[in-house]
Amino acid sequence: MYAGSNPALPTTIMFKQALTKKEFHKFIIGAAFKDIELIKKYSYIFTAAGANAIDISAFPLSVIAAKQGIEQALLNNPNLEAPLLMISINVGEDTHFRRINLDTQNCTECLLCVPSCPSQAFSVLGKPSNPEFSYDIDLCYGCSNCLEYCNYDALSFEQWSPYEAESLSELIKLGANAIEIHLNNDLETFRELYLKIPHDFLLESFCIGSQQMNTTQIQEATKLISELTTNSKSEIIIQSDGLPLSGARDLGENKDLASIINSQTILSNLQTSSRPIFVQLAGGIDEKSLAKAHAQGVLVDGVAIGSYARKQLLDHLNDLDQAVDLTKRMILESKRLKNN
Ligand code: SF4
Ligand code: SF4
Repeated sequence: MYAGSNPALPTTIMFKQALTKKEFHKFIIGAAFKDIELIKKYSYIFTAAGANAIDISAFPLSVIAAKQGIEQALLNNPNLEAPLLMISINVGEDTHFRRINLDTQNCTECLLCVPSCPSQAFSVLGKPSNPEFSYDIDLCYGCSNCLEYCNYDALSFEQWSPYEAESLSELIKLGANAIEIHLNNDLETFRELYLKIPHDFLLESFCIGSQQMNTTQIQEATKLISELTTNSKSEIIIQSDGLPLSGARDLGENKDLASIINSQTILSNLQTSSRPIFVQLAGGIDEKSLAKAHAQGVLVDGVAIGSYARKQLLDHLNDLDQAVDLTKRMILESKRLKNN
């Protein structure tokens, strides 16, 4: 049986302790990411490194693959505790749920987009004298880097919503024990969705900000989440999203600032909340972000690291021990800097 689905196992203690210590570390594989082998591999790496949660697409094969990766890590090291297995769903169109579509009619195979992809979704096969361009949509997580390289109108976004509210119970049976809803500034649709979905999760997370909300809208979303979750038995997190999918891009030291500023707004609106609601940073986050927020008096409870970690791991995916070490060091450094 999958450890994460059994509330008697230490996984339920570990993530709560991490939240209480303000050291919750979630790793994001991607809400639109569908490469099954990589989902399994990343889940193994993040579990073995001690992540508190792993965030994946709300798709049966993704959940099965992540569960296999988690189980493999637990088998190799019985002292480990299973992270939460979180599925991400969206309200309306959302940045996290888009993927690049390649129009093969327009593509001239100029290869300019190939090095731009932090996920290696484009590749060149065959001999140098006769290169064959290929694109794997399941490796795309929608960062938008490649768009600016194409001069032939061959790349465009398609929105992807892999789940239906009715299918979430199935994903819970497969092993998902946490959920994240991306609000996308459509509070009425969010309210309707929230009342419709199952609530058998150990943790419910709500992603707000994401460059789609101004301060007033973040305040309104925070109040609505607080109101809707008053009697929820799950732990509740609000994920303060700054610059989504930007971790792999070289945006300088302040790429996490938007997330920290949004967190401040959320935290000040939670002061009168009738139940504990945790807050975590996301969007442009690295191992320094947690400490940076705390140094500014923004006492968030954790971080969600996505494309920044995946980009670093890309060259180490054939050496899992090295990939685990690298991720472990990321988590330890994040905690060390915060506690200094
Ligand atoms: S560069 Fe980004 S948006 Fe383009 S294919 Fe790669 S992951 Fe997808
Ligand atoms: S940049 Fe555009 S035209 Fe060139 S290989 Fe990529 S998709 Fe095709």
